[in-house]
Amino acid sequence: MRLVDHVIAGGTAGLSQGRRGAVMDPNNGCQQAEVVLGASDALERAVAAAKAAQPAWAATNPQRRARVMFAFKHLIETNMDDLALMLSQEHGKVIADAKGDIQRGLEVVEFVCGVPHLQKGEYTQGAGPGIDVFSMRQPIGIGAGITPFNFPAMIPLWMGAVALAVGNAFILKPSERNPSVPNRIAELWSEAGLPDGVFQVVHGDKEMVDAILDHPAIGAVSFVGSSDIANYVYQRGAAAGKRVQAMGGAKNHGIVMPDADLDQVVNDLCGAAFGSAGERCMALPVVVPVGEETAERLREKLVPAIHALKVGISTDPEAQYGPVVTAQHKASIERWIQTAVDEGSELVIDGRGYLLQGHEQGYFMGPTLLDHVRPDMSSYHNEIFGPVLQIVRACDFEEALALPSQHQYGNGVAIFTRNGHAAREFANRVHVGMVGINVPIPVPVAYHSFGGWKRSGYGDTDQYGLDGIRFWTRAKKVTARWPDGGSDGSNAFVIPTLG
Ligand code: NAD
Repeated sequence: MRLVDHVIAGGTAGLSQGRRGAVMDPNNGCQQAEVVLGASDALERAVAAAKAAQPAWAATNPQRRARVMFAFKHLIETNMDDLALMLSQEHGKVIADAKGDIQRGLEVVEFVCGVPHLQKGEYTQGAGPGIDVFSMRQPIGIGAGITPFNFPAMIPLWMGAVALAVGNAFILKPSERNPSVPNRIAELWSEAGLPDGVFQVVHGDKEMVDAILDHPAIGAVSFVGSSDIANYVYQRGAAAGKRVQAMGGAKNHGIVMPDADLDQVVNDLCGAAFGSAGERCMALPVVVPVGEETAERLREKLVPAIHALKVGISTDPEAQYGPVVTAQHKASIERWIQTAVDEGSELVIDGRGYLLQGHEQGYFMGPTLLDHVRPDMSSYHNEIFGPVLQIVRACDFEEALALPSQHQYGNGVAIFTRNGHAAREFANRVHVGMVGINVPIPVPVAYHSFGGWKRSGYGDTDQYGLDGIRFWTRAKKVTARWPDGGSDGSNAFVIPTLG
């Protein structure tokens, strides 16, 4: 059985003892690898290597660090096909989505190729008589990233690329469900010329996460995952004196105004609700038609479009989405569908019990559509994270606006309309972090920043963009005075001495 080991100090760790986890192939339900589930001994080795390597990396001038970023970007591009296949076979998303996963991470690498400019400080000449003030942005030292299963390339690159570019050593603890792409990323960083010990991967579960949160040498932790764990990581990391940002779960709404282009909306919803089997934090699992007539017209167009979706193995070029990640996750989604029915939703299309011929043991699910979902239902309140779309009908704009605003999550939201005033009003007033106007999945580009509100994001800073640069650096502020030495030197500045 293939073993996925830690990557420490430029090589695999070779720690043969300890717990192991199974890495499954969601297409057929078979185990395809084993991953080491490490603990503090592995982390200590990684921290020691990081401590040894980081000062020289931080002292490397920014244009040289940028050259490593350029080389890495090129390597990701040339290895795109192999990486996408590896990712798709462990995650279950189709190849086009796997390439999208890598591409969105690559764009953050492109962003940090400009690190000499991004890391510049500020300068004020003459803040007082003979006094200048300037600031510099210095790396934290050693940072860690803890990432979820659903974007095994993009999220490690969101964090890692920025952390490294500004001069940190970075230790990644990826999801134990699909650990191979992170290891391949570590190899590509080495090939790009990053010194050993600057980017490392430690594998594990809660035990490794706790070791990271408690380690005194790790100064900053970036987390992405579900909200309860995000909150836990935020609290425990902050209590240990670390800088922490922790992105959590989501339940994004798509508001459909009566004047929206419904053909476009249906097309967008099919991609945003069911693409990647709904396992995206920016998926659109709730649609809110405004007015009964809009709801009826939308449903009429939506039902045949959902029936036409093609589910297949992740390497099938015709498939629009593949299996969900694990058997446990499939069972959880099925339980939520039953809960929704028990709570009184109308099950319009039932995706349970879907069998793909020749792949009966794979974790496939057909698409599910639920109508007449109400805000008081637990299936609405909670994240299902599967190929399930819920229709919540709203009477008017104000009721539609209140739904995402009052929901416990506040990651993304979209409004579909031809009315600029309604769109503007919505974007201004909605209590959610990322807003799409006729854009179903409004993930900000790499030079803006990504982050949700409420239980979708704990901490003060977002991922990547300028917020990423701020998170992974500390500002030092210097106030300097250089007294006039006088033309004859009589007034020369003398360093005061004691005694
Ligand atoms: P998860 O919370 O189960 O796992 C995330 C990470 O936490 C993993 O590395 C895992 O090993 C670790 N972990 C799991 N249980 C832990 C525990 N008890 N204590 C400490 N660490 C623990 O999330 P997941 O299922 O891998 O990913 C899906 C979730 O991530 C969804 O909720 C999704 O919305 C969210 N997500 C959010 C964003 C965002 O930016 N807001 C992006 C992607 C995914």
